[in-house]
Amino acid sequence: MEKISNYVSGQWVNGDGQELLAENAINGQIIGAVSSAGLDYASILDYGRTVGGPALRKMTFQERGRMLKALALHLMSIKDKFYHLSAATGATRVDSWIDIEGGIGNLFANASLRKQFPDLPYAVEGDAIPLSKGGSFIGHHILVPKRGVAVHINAFNFPIWGMLEKIAVNLLAGVPAVVKPSEYTSYLTELMVKEIIASKILPEGSLQLVSGFGRGILDHVTQNDVVTFTGSAATGLKLKALPNIIQNTVPFNLEADSLNATMLGEDAAPGTPEFDIFIKATRAEITVKAGQKCTAVRRILVPEKYMEDVQIALGQQLAKTTIGDPSADGVRMGALACRTQVDRVRHNVELLMKEQEIVYGDMDNFDVVGADKDKGAFFSPILFRNDDPFTKTAVHEIEAFGPVSTLMPYKDMDEAIRLAELGKGSLVTSIVTADDSLAKDFVIGTAHMHGRVLVLNERCAKESTGHGSPMPLLTHGGPGRAGGGEEMGGVRGVKHYMQRTAIQGHPETITRITEQFQVGADQPEANPHVFRQHFEELRVGDTVFTHKHTVTDADIVNFANVSGDNFYAHMDASSLEGTIFEQRVAHGYFLLSKAAGLFVDPKKGPVLLNYGVEQARFTKPVYPGATVGVRFTVKEKIDQEKRSEDDIAKGIVKFLVDMFDETGETVAIATILTMVKKIDQSQ
Ligand code: NAP
Repeated sequence: MEKISNYVSGQWVNGDGQELLAENAINGQIIGAVSSAGLDYASILDYGRTVGGPALRKMTFQERGRMLKALALHLMSIKDKFYHLSAATGATRVDSWIDIEGGIGNLFANASLRKQFPDLPYAVEGDAIPLSKGGSFIGHHILVPKRGVAVHINAFNFPIWGMLEKIAVNLLAGVPAVVKPSEYTSYLTELMVKEIIASKILPEGSLQLVSGFGRGILDHVTQNDVVTFTGSAATGLKLKALPNIIQNTVPFNLEADSLNATMLGEDAAPGTPEFDIFIKATRAEITVKAGQKCTAVRRILVPEKYMEDVQIALGQQLAKTTIGDPSADGVRMGALACRTQVDRVRHNVELLMKEQEIVYGDMDNFDVVGADKDKGAFFSPILFRNDDPFTKTAVHEIEAFGPVSTLMPYKDMDEAIRLAELGKGSLVTSIVTADDSLAKDFVIGTAHMHGRVLVLNERCAKESTGHGSPMPLLTHGGPGRAGGGEEMGGVRGVKHYMQRTAIQGHPETITRITEQFQVGADQPEANPHVFRQHFEELRVGDTVFTHKHTVTDADIVNFANVSGDNFYAHMDASSLEGTIFEQRVAHGYFLLSKAAGLFVDPKKGPVLLNYGVEQARFTKPVYPGATVGVRFTVKEKIDQEKRSEDDIAKGIVKFLVDMFDETGETVAIATILTMVKKIDQSQ
């Protein structure tokens, strides 16, 4: 019999015996025996900490980001292999696309995030904090990768996305992972991990896989580790309360089930484009992935007067949902992940039936195309109606993790918000409305109980990513019942795997630690001019002290002519009463432009281009007669990869432009971004 293996401590091993026989969701055939029994979790976690961790921490954010990009490109190039096996989980092509390409998309998105981090293994956060009058003592914040492992315990519904959306983040942070998918679908995770390990793109020890039950794994986590859990609230809370987790204050990110609601706006009457958008989006939320999405719509809030219309329109749409083997023509909904899930969903539907009536669908009588209904894990879409949702409240408690949802009426916005709140905290809610003031009331009224709120209408529907899709750069997670966790979320997510530490000292010391120039640090005169130096030669802190320039009325008039900016404060000395200005004031943009005139060394050299300005401020009015000069300092350097063989090897250099007047006070300050050629053109 085929064995679904574990990749631990640098090798593929089979667990003892068999904990479960994984089955094909379409035809019930056995795929393989799964087991992680007998694995030594203490040494697996230790292997990650001692082999994977140090290798990742040697790499900078830029290197780790490029590694993720290489992995994403590689997996994309062989994606058909995953689609092929994914069909066994009951997934249609669209369902598999979410799991496979959605997961790989997370790798790409996190790879791009590297640009928001320094060229170091650790991160520097925010600005320096002045802590002394004389400026010789400052504070700052750094974030260093945790020296443990990320243990990811995942649900069965997204065997690939579930892993990739999480490891993308911990790997960028410099932390290795041990992934424990649900054993029902771990055969698909195993295939992807096999490809990842074989590619050798990740350093050894940075990814391990426990394909089976994994019971006991959390008994060995320590204060250095981070646990993420995705699954039911019941299991999640049990694991979060394990003595070892509490005693070692192990960060535990809980993403649990959630009774997400969608609402039809009062304005979206039958016949409006928004009504049709609502019906289409809700049908998709019920049937995509056969409803096995943590973000799927479980509760449908409808203005009382439109209940009949919605029930009829949604019923008609659901009736078009052909169920069966996704490889057969016309099939729009596949199967649940396995027959165990059919039993679970049926049980929860039966509980819901005690309080509310089914208005569409029948658990026993439905047609299946291209497969044997009794062998596969098929389930009919079920639409309930509950006309009394404030007293018949099982619908706000029970998650049937399949194509099951409930219609319920609301009288006004206040009621709709209260109904949404009865879910006790959800991952996502949505409203379909063309009325932005309704949208505002709903968003502000429900945000405190939701991780994400979507407003959908005709203007954005075509390009909308939908109610059900968490996006890698937005935070995924919700309060209360949804677990109170946060994952993904761009830079924010990466920081979950890092320790934030305040550091204090002299600006020069903090400059050397952060490798970013801090005001008050040494500013040795650059020799030659910084524009004559290559990327490798530039040193953070090196400064050009420019000539001085005395600002004149003619400068202001000329700049107004060139730019067309004739704002009164620059042009009309008689208009200044009631303003903060004492005389005609020089344009801030003139000062920045003049600064460039002072600091630029014009002859062709290693500086290839200037591509932007950040954090520009005009801090003091400059009047004709003032004499200004610039301190132009290397602030930060970020290495870059060559895009192709014939690309010029270069890096990004940020310069601090500090323009001051004859009193020595800063009048304008900005950071400019340049690309600077390297001496070594080979890489
Ligand atoms: P589950 O039964 O709670 O299991 C979740 C994971 O925990 C599985 O990998 C499971 O492994 C593991 N687990 C259970 N007990 C464990 C223990 N003692 N030690 C270590 N691991 C243990 O959930 P599920 O049925 O797989 O998934 C469906 C649920 O997940 C739904 O409620 C859905 O809403 C939720 N979900 C939430 C999100 C989200 O982002 N919020 C995403 C997807 C799914 P076994 O399979 O071996 O028990």
